[in-house]
Amino acid sequence: MRYRSLFTTIVLLFALFSLKAQNDYFFAEGTRFDPKIPSPEKYLGYPIGTLHTRHDAIVGYMRELARISDRAKLDTIGETYEHRQLVVLTITSPENHRNLESIRKEHLKLTDPTQSVGDYTDMKSVVLLGYNVHGNEPSSSEAAMLTAYYYVAGQSAEVRAALKDAVLMVDPTFNPDGRDRHSTWANSYLGDPMVSDPIDVEHNEAWPRGRTNHYWYDLNRDWLPLAHVESQARIDFYHKWYPNVVTDFHEMGTNSTYFFEPTKPFGSENPVVPRDNYDGLNNLFAGYFHEALDEIGSLYFTKEQYDNSYPGYGSTYPDIHGALGLVFEQASSRGHVQDSPTGKVAFAFTIKNHVTSSLATVRASVGEREVLLKHMENYFDSALEEGAKNPVKGWVFGDPADDGRNQAFIDLLLRHKIKTVALNDDIELDGKNYKAGKAFYVPNAQKQYRMVRTMFEKVIDFHDSIFYDASSWTAALTYNMPYAEWKGKQDLSGKELTRNDLKGTYARVPKTNYAYLIEWNEYYAPKALNYLLEKGVYVNYGSKPFSIETNEGVKEYGYGTLMIPVSRQEMDADLVHAYVEEATEIAGIRAQSVKTGFSTSGVDLGSGSFTTVRKPKAIMLIGGNTNSAEAGEVWHLFDSKVGMPITKVDMDNADRINWSNYNTLILVSGSYNSLGESTLDRIKLWVREGGTLITIKGATSWAIGAKWVNEKYAPRSERETPERMDYVTSRDFYGAQSIGGSMYMTDIDITHPIGFGYTSRELPVYRNHSTLIQPSSSPTNTVVKYTENPLLSGYVSKANLKDIGGTASLIATSMGRGNVVMFVDNPNFRGMWYGTNRLLFNAVFFGNY
Ligand SMILES: [Zn+2]
Repeated sequence: MRYRSLFTTIVLLFALFSLKAQNDYFFAEGTRFDPKIPSPEKYLGYPIGTLHTRHDAIVGYMRELARISDRAKLDTIGETYEHRQLVVLTITSPENHRNLESIRKEHLKLTDPTQSVGDYTDMKSVVLLGYNVHGNEPSSSEAAMLTAYYYVAGQSAEVRAALKDAVLMVDPTFNPDGRDRHSTWANSYLGDPMVSDPIDVEHNEAWPRGRTNHYWYDLNRDWLPLAHVESQARIDFYHKWYPNVVTDFHEMGTNSTYFFEPTKPFGSENPVVPRDNYDGLNNLFAGYFHEALDEIGSLYFTKEQYDNSYPGYGSTYPDIHGALGLVFEQASSRGHVQDSPTGKVAFAFTIKNHVTSSLATVRASVGEREVLLKHMENYFDSALEEGAKNPVKGWVFGDPADDGRNQAFIDLLLRHKIKTVALNDDIELDGKNYKAGKAFYVPNAQKQYRMVRTMFEKVIDFHDSIFYDASSWTAALTYNMPYAEWKGKQDLSGKELTRNDLKGTYARVPKTNYAYLIEWNEYYAPKALNYLLEKGVYVNYGSKPFSIETNEGVKEYGYGTLMIPVSRQEMDADLVHAYVEEATEIAGIRAQSVKTGFSTSGVDLGSGSFTTVRKPKAIMLIGGNTNSAEAGEVWHLFDSKVGMPITKVDMDNADRINWSNYNTLILVSGSYNSLGESTLDRIKLWVREGGTLITIKGATSWAIGAKWVNEKYAPRSERETPERMDYVTSRDFYGAQSIGGSMYMTDIDITHPIGFGYTSRELPVYRNHSTLIQPSSSPTNTVVKYTENPLLSGYVSKANLKDIGGTASLIATSMGRGNVVMFVDNPNFRGMWYGTNRLLFNAVFFGNY
């Protein structure tokens, strides 16, 4: 490509790279700019494309534009874990700025089915230009600065028309922590002259790489789970404005070209999104994209791949909100310039393509303004209509045993603006009792009907059998939430909830000189337990149920109940009381006090069924080929839900660990053979002496393969493979045989310490892998086992489903004086599996059972 090599030459000689050349390179020749507005190059002091711009400098540039120009205003909508600002630069005409709040209110009428707009003449297209959700796909934030410059400083009639008819919102960096992690790497290894050799360190980041956020989570999966502060802030802002168009800019392999939507038809489209989105809007916009990219000579492809089904993508969530979400993918230079089979890929070239698409997006959003506004109004009108017509009137849910998990689930619904009420009366459905106070209702007849379906509906019929990611995301199952359809004539009545109603259930507990009790079935009980252990309080857990007279009357207690005896502590009764108060207050749960150890039924408090909890001293190996997403999920879980530190040690330093400092080792997916024989022998000895080894997914396979435990893979049934097939169909054939992300039902032994706190034997789990493990030969070791016909939601082939049925999902076994707790499935997937998190809490706190 003549174009690319010409520019590469320019970049490599960037001393000659004048401001005019920059503008002429990134924008159409002759584009005029207001000289009072600094270009990104002028502000930063280097030409765009010659360095990776730090996030604080990106924010600084946006702030400077807002300071100088009456076309721009900067809002800080939140901050990351590392305290980097999340900002949005709103660009529109000065007149629109003066009326911004009334424009917003007018716009929101489109999302309200009780109001009819119809005449769109004076309304604006609202365009959210979002960039850089994957930190190591850095061209997009650079493009964000150039795009902002174009609309703030541009003098053309086209720019002025856009500012009159549209409100542009530039969110330059969805993932600032990841961006800076990657940018620092790429800048640190930048050579002079540059090195384009793909094996050079500049092009190969170290673990955990920059794609993810602080906790190594993929934020482009988090628009549904909202596990992270970045997504929570973004969703709040989103629902303030309901943009008509949302962009999501990415990078892909260096050897590729460019991708814009439409994505692959049918199989990778979301089942609740109206067809008009895919057949109408996507094709309409594609015309603008190809025209713009043709103009600058860029090669591209569409339709063949990329997925638009999972609602947690930044390009899919808007589709479920009456907007058009758009994913763009650019071949990455991953570094400043990198060799590819078709020549050098320069950073500036990758930026230029994203600038071109950004401008084309605005052009389309202005050109198709009325189409977009009408689409949004129809979308929410039809959502309410469809919801009202559904023979299922709504959804009743609530776990009578776990307020913390109920409230976490309701919090998710409310963040997504799903109307939820607390039921006034008890109700029995499908043989389950839903008790007022712990039972809730979500009506289908609401404007967020399609999000309601996303939360509750199980999907097992599919157009296709190949999935880029997950084929199921039924949120109620991830929270292990008991729920049922309500098919009565009227909606159930109750108080509509707001997030202010979600404050836990903490209440003061009277002081006692005997003992305090805390129910383990509360999701946040581990947080209280950890606090007590940190304060040096001795806590016992019970392995048998009992009933006893408490300050709240006679109460039944289940497996795993925490019991804090007062007289056996090395502190006085007042201090014990104060710590129990503090622990339950920070965890948002209740404790009860008792004055007697004599139970009304079951074991007494002095029974041998009570065991002292060992204070966890946990360590996790990271780096090397360990799975950073799984490691991040463990880290984030214990930080955010328990407040317990976990020591993270790079594989390279494993031989320096003093194992006597720890009692719990967590291994996530990865191969640990590279640790070397002496370190592995040391770890084995440590387990035999009483350590708890917890293995997750691939680490379980590794432990079985390395013969650390005596468990076996389950046999796979014979597959019918055709004798001969055409080469072109083989990908589809084998794709349909793999096990993607789906949800399955298991049976859990709730009397086993690893199953403590569960009150039902039914536990949904997530599986996105093909490892099948036989139930253990020791009958009590298979704590969680797949039911015979376990599919709950998602795609799986018939043969695979048959093979999965009856296999193990979690095995706990002894090894010398220690234990090995083996998770076949990931209990923490995407921070959304509140239902299975407890298994890991149990393994950490009760792992030495
Ligand atoms: Zn990406």
